[in-house]
Amino acid sequence: MRAKQDTAWHSRGVEDVLEALEVSDKGLGTEDVKARLERYGPNRLPPPERAGPLKRFLLQFHNVLIYILIAAAVGTAFLQHWVDTGVILGVVLINAVIGFIQEGKAEQALDAIRSMLSPKALVLRDGERHTVPAEDLVPGDIVFLQAGDKVPADLRLLRVHNMRIDEAVLTGESVAVDKQADPVDEDADLGDRASMAFSGTLVAYGQARGVVVGTGAETQIGRISTMLGEVEQLTTPLLRDIAVFGRWLSVAIVLLAGFTFVFGYWFRDYDILETFLAAVSLAVAAIPEGLPAIMTITLAIGVQRMAARNAIIRRLPAVETLGSVTTICSDKTGTLTRNEMTVKSIVTAEDVFEVGGVGYEPHGGFSRDGQDLEPDEHPVLSEALRGILLCNDAEVRQRDGEWRLEGDPTEGALVTAALKGGLDHKETNELYPRDDVIPFESSYKFMATLHHHHEGNHSFVYLKGAPERVLAVCDRERTVDGDREIDNDRWQQQMDEIAAKGQRLLALAVNDVEADKRTLEFPDIEDGGLTMVALCGIIDPPRDEAIESVAECQSAGIVVKMITGDHGVTARAIADNLGIDTAGGVLTGHELEKISDEEMKQTVREVDVFARATPEHKLRLVKAIQANGHVVAMTGDGVNDAPALKRADVGVAMGIKGTEASKEAAEMVLADDNFASIAHAVEEGRTVYDNLRKAILFLLPTNGGQAFTIVAAILLGLTLPLTPVQVLWVNMVTAVTLALALAFEPTEPGVMERPPRPPETPILSGFLIWRVAFVSALLVAGTFGHFLWMEQQGVAVEIARTAAINTLVMGQLFYLFNSRYILEPVFNRAGLFGSRAVLIAIGVLIVLQGLFTYAPPVQFLFGTAALGLEEWGRILAFGVALFVLVELEKAFLKWREVGADR
Ligand code: ATP
Repeated sequence: MRAKQDTAWHSRGVEDVLEALEVSDKGLGTEDVKARLERYGPNRLPPPERAGPLKRFLLQFHNVLIYILIAAAVGTAFLQHWVDTGVILGVVLINAVIGFIQEGKAEQALDAIRSMLSPKALVLRDGERHTVPAEDLVPGDIVFLQAGDKVPADLRLLRVHNMRIDEAVLTGESVAVDKQADPVDEDADLGDRASMAFSGTLVAYGQARGVVVGTGAETQIGRISTMLGEVEQLTTPLLRDIAVFGRWLSVAIVLLAGFTFVFGYWFRDYDILETFLAAVSLAVAAIPEGLPAIMTITLAIGVQRMAARNAIIRRLPAVETLGSVTTICSDKTGTLTRNEMTVKSIVTAEDVFEVGGVGYEPHGGFSRDGQDLEPDEHPVLSEALRGILLCNDAEVRQRDGEWRLEGDPTEGALVTAALKGGLDHKETNELYPRDDVIPFESSYKFMATLHHHHEGNHSFVYLKGAPERVLAVCDRERTVDGDREIDNDRWQQQMDEIAAKGQRLLALAVNDVEADKRTLEFPDIEDGGLTMVALCGIIDPPRDEAIESVAECQSAGIVVKMITGDHGVTARAIADNLGIDTAGGVLTGHELEKISDEEMKQTVREVDVFARATPEHKLRLVKAIQANGHVVAMTGDGVNDAPALKRADVGVAMGIKGTEASKEAAEMVLADDNFASIAHAVEEGRTVYDNLRKAILFLLPTNGGQAFTIVAAILLGLTLPLTPVQVLWVNMVTAVTLALALAFEPTEPGVMERPPRPPETPILSGFLIWRVAFVSALLVAGTFGHFLWMEQQGVAVEIARTAAINTLVMGQLFYLFNSRYILEPVFNRAGLFGSRAVLIAIGVLIVLQGLFTYAPPVQFLFGTAALGLEEWGRILAFGVALFVLVELEKAFLKWREVGADR
């Protein structure tokens, strides 16, 4: 076997390829797979190269501020002020270490999430279909492909049905190419190798089966080194704005520091070194250098929390957008409902049969008017059961005592119904082998299969699909006494009755064709002349948690719209159950097609339920809702949903039943396909945004308080209340560490009771600027006031400074509590004790300040001195006063409804 070399698989015949890869038509056996996996390794591309730890550590120093600090260290060393030099370098180093660790943690969090999205493949092994992680594929594996799949390895196609593949990732060609099983010329270019499906490309249409010829780095995509993914930047538009703001602020601060230096030296006669150091420490104190790191960490923690609640973020900016979502458009089946389908009724031309049992377990019998019966005594029912079993790709199997479904749940429910009727899957398929298929697509809403009797004397087509589609091509109906003209009114009435119970409808029709017919085309169905056999009613109960989440979204000012492929009456019944507004009526896809874009804008304001919708309708709906100024989250799972998902502000794909194509197009993937997870993600998105604001609201005033204390002293020509190294200390222990605690803030109460944030609101709102100025002023007043007062009492300057610093730190400590909620009061149990991170940060800070004040070596380094109880009393009183004042400010703003623009 020579799977590793390029052996021009595309030009070799199917038999030859299978022989070369030593695989039978039953696929590989388990032992063989194991051996090959060992030999070829997992089907995975080597991870993209990342900067090594050393480089990442050194990059922490690549920052203008650090350069200034290093220059200051060199300056002080030159003047032999070794203590200052040591402290400055210590601060630089500790900052770098903290930054390095934080960054590492943030990246780890994201890596863990990426690995949750690993693709799966459907393979044939030991004669059975299995879904396995794509990583476990080995050369020789036989893989099934269908529309929406991402090709999991390089495949030589063995059997192809109308397959088109989008190979843009590989060839740059955006038009999907037709595929075939016949070999092509040996010298064909990559784009012309129609007999191959290449790893990483997307199946746009059709079905096929192929054999793996290359895995991992041995695939075409693996060989193109440039393709090996770029590492995504840990950022979002908001974070970029903040970074830009931070840079401007830094420039302003450096100018201010320069001015202070010039002013202090020339007009206030300070010593040049002291002024220089004061200017440097001013810059360090004022520049919110911790801000970017804290933003990144907040974002990473948000993403991680969302993942823990089953919402996996694929593109980081979505975290922010989620917080301002105003409309969620959701699919019904599986997202709002449980997707555990059970056939409850089967209606034929003359009878209504009830089916017992729940779930995929084939236990339960048939009855009519409450009387149990044997299905094989009812020929039309038997025919219906056979039809729904044959025109079906799902399998229901018992494994470990439990009945499990492989395939689509609607089809699974039909298989189970047939098994309940005593049919055997394998036997039926052998009796009536399938010759061809038109697979189900939500755009045309049916599936058709062509079969012949195994003795070859009889061929027929089964059509199953949405009843309107099926009825439209039927002119006869089957009865016990043979076929007769169809009674459309009766079928229509039966449909309405079943749908009103919220059941999903599916119809089955049959048509006899020439015995030698072996291929099935659309005209075979669309030309009509079929015979209606039965109508099935399938229940799919709403998820309990979806009912709650819909209510939660509505109280959060978010409109929930349901867009479903199901029948209008079914859709309305389910929407009513879920609490989705049906007052505006239910609009069908057919009606949608008749209205103009302008009318559509009006319609989407009134109607919340859309039935019999196709993916194309979804795209139009998103556009219309957006045109009304809404921020839209839209769910989707099929290959054709990709454009709507891309267009939506937050495209949401389904992790379990979603196609790879829809996942690629989406910003977010739901690990559990559950609507509740979207609501959770919105809640977390709002929390992340709140926490980003909280970090800013906390950091800027602490920086402001520190900086203005120094500026005021210099302008007034007074003794500096904080020496430069002391400023560096305060900055390090508070700004960086305390603020970090806010990144871990849990969701504020009432987050889902307020309206969505208008997307254009700037983060630096008037309210924010006010709060920053207000708290900065309080901190300056306390710190400076305490220092001046103590100086006047004639205490040593070391003691006065130590008291001033502790006043500043205490003020920041209390303000950290205030900052936990932006406008809500925190003077309650949850507010004061609700965050472990805050309590830990405060505990650590108290220990550090204790050392700073009392430990002799630290006293020597920073020029501090021990404080007495009396000083601590005043310091504590200031902290409490600041806390109370900020709480009063919040209450006032809330009362006046200022700051509600958050
Ligand atoms: P949603 O968009 O809410 O997930 P859905 O899954 O019901 O809705 P579709 O999958 O487009 O939407 O299904 C629409 C209709 O097509 C169903 O009501 C049913 O009548 C029919 N249908 C669904 N699955 C199949 C299938 N596998 N074979 C034949 N017909 C099907």
